[in-house]
Amino acid sequence: MYDVVIVGSGPAGYVAAIRASQLGLKTACIEKSFDINGKPLLGGTCLNVGCIPSKALLDSSYKYAEALNHFSDHGIEVNKPKLDLSKMMNRKNNIITQLTSGVSGLFEANKVTSILGEAKILDSTQVEVSFEGKAEVINTKHVIIASGSSPIDIPTAPIDQENIVDSTGALVFDSVPKKLAIIGAGVIGLELGSVWARLGSKVTILEAMDEFLPMADKRIARDVLRELKKQGLDINLGCKVTAARSSAKGVKVLFEDDKESHELEVDKLIVAVGRKPNTANLLGENCGITLDERGFIPVNNLCETLVKNIWAVGDVVRGPMLAHKASEEGIMVVERITGKHAEIKYDLVPFVIYTHPEVAWVGKNEEELSEAGIDFKTGSFPFAANGRALAAGETTGFVKVIADKETDTVLGVHAFGPSAADIIQQGVVAMESGVSAEGLGLTIFSHPTVSEALHEAALAVNRQAIHIRNKKNKIIKN
Ligand code: FAD
Ligand code: NAD
Repeated sequence: MYDVVIVGSGPAGYVAAIRASQLGLKTACIEKSFDINGKPLLGGTCLNVGCIPSKALLDSSYKYAEALNHFSDHGIEVNKPKLDLSKMMNRKNNIITQLTSGVSGLFEANKVTSILGEAKILDSTQVEVSFEGKAEVINTKHVIIASGSSPIDIPTAPIDQENIVDSTGALVFDSVPKKLAIIGAGVIGLELGSVWARLGSKVTILEAMDEFLPMADKRIARDVLRELKKQGLDINLGCKVTAARSSAKGVKVLFEDDKESHELEVDKLIVAVGRKPNTANLLGENCGITLDERGFIPVNNLCETLVKNIWAVGDVVRGPMLAHKASEEGIMVVERITGKHAEIKYDLVPFVIYTHPEVAWVGKNEEELSEAGIDFKTGSFPFAANGRALAAGETTGFVKVIADKETDTVLGVHAFGPSAADIIQQGVVAMESGVSAEGLGLTIFSHPTVSEALHEAALAVNRQAIHIRNKKNKIIKN
């Protein structure tokens, strides 16, 4: 009898398993994918086909594009760099192996039992595991469902993983497509679009919505769109793809905008229109859980399902599909199982889009605050006035701090620019401690760092920024 059985070994499941064992719970983690040695393939989407491989390719392709286009800005003359895609892909694969085997090692060190097979939840005390036609039932006191998500497919563009691929297929192209189309200008479309554009593809993105990055700060969304277009991503909004036909020559994509119908011939098409929860065949008839209308497992803020002692965390439940949100939910649940008081401040989950420059934010944006009727003030600071950004030649973008008009408490931080992901993390820490904009402005930041843009933006909230030329102490119109 286990204390806790976890279904899925992604960032929600494997992190929960390790913490559960640390807390003294007898823990098993069931994973249905396996590696070439027939061992459970740990790490889920994130380590195998998500965060890590995409960032490995983003980093490699960025270095290539820098060498190709920007080394000479720094007085470095090199012969035209040559791309070795297969070496780039091997590097990415080695990073995946290093991390996934690292999780196996952590399981061993923490005495987590790793079980290979497909899990079905029979009830809160029994999980059936099937592998190669054989099934066994595992008994437990608690079940944590962490079965994650998979790419959504659309009937107009059926995935064949050859010419029409999802995000998984887009991480393993064996040559750079000359022409590449992407359906969806969301996070994956922009990140993988950036990878392949940097490596030489002519990238066309077709987005259904009229608005670009509607969840981001409006000004940032506008600036990102302009910057990515400058980088060669042909982003088309308000497009409805009516059909995509794969042939030996490539893919013919038919789409309509508000004016007319278009036909686009490309070598590859990536479908990146969102992800859906992995719940097929997961719940036994008598387990007592009914999925919501979108297929997610309904949970409350503590990740409790309606059935006592069955919990669900990560992409399979409501909220943003992010690895760090998934892991924190996993930790919260096992801590609660052991009687600890744990909760998640969902308002403080940071979002990052790893384009270049990066886009990142935490907390509320101006539209959300206006809608909620909260009075606020803002301060912004451009990287063009930041010494370190100038030294690096990375002057695009700005940081914006939003604070409550009366209390000065920081309500949101939004950044577009160099190391925005890391800058935003400082905003998370500040907001976690309930700091005011003035307090953030009084904090010492190392010089010269791009983080000083956050410092100055915080100072600018109360019109105290130092390095802003405008007499009104306001360089950016908000
Ligand atoms: P998953 O990682 O999907 O893991 C679920 C696991 O459960 C899988 O291993 C699956 O095989 C297993 N499983 C499912 N059903 C069963 C069953 N019945 N029995 C046994 N095992 C089962 N997020 C970020 O925060 N930052 C990023 O930069 C980022 N980049 C991404 C890039 C791409 C291309 C993609 C696709 C996603 C990215 N994400 C990123 C999202 C991130 O990968 C997910 O939010 C995260 O992996 C969710 O974790 P999870 O543990 O809930 O699920
Ligand atoms: P997404 O929700 O970010 O974007 C999907 C986009 O596709 C949206 O803009 C949507 O309007 C558009 N779309 C939907 N149907 C369409 C259609 N038929 N035609 C044209 N456009 C259509 O989803 P994604 O980019 O697939 O990413 C999936 C998830 O993975 C996201 O929730 C994200 O959180 C996670 N992820 C995170 C990161 C990160 O944190 N940096 C990176 C990659 C993925």
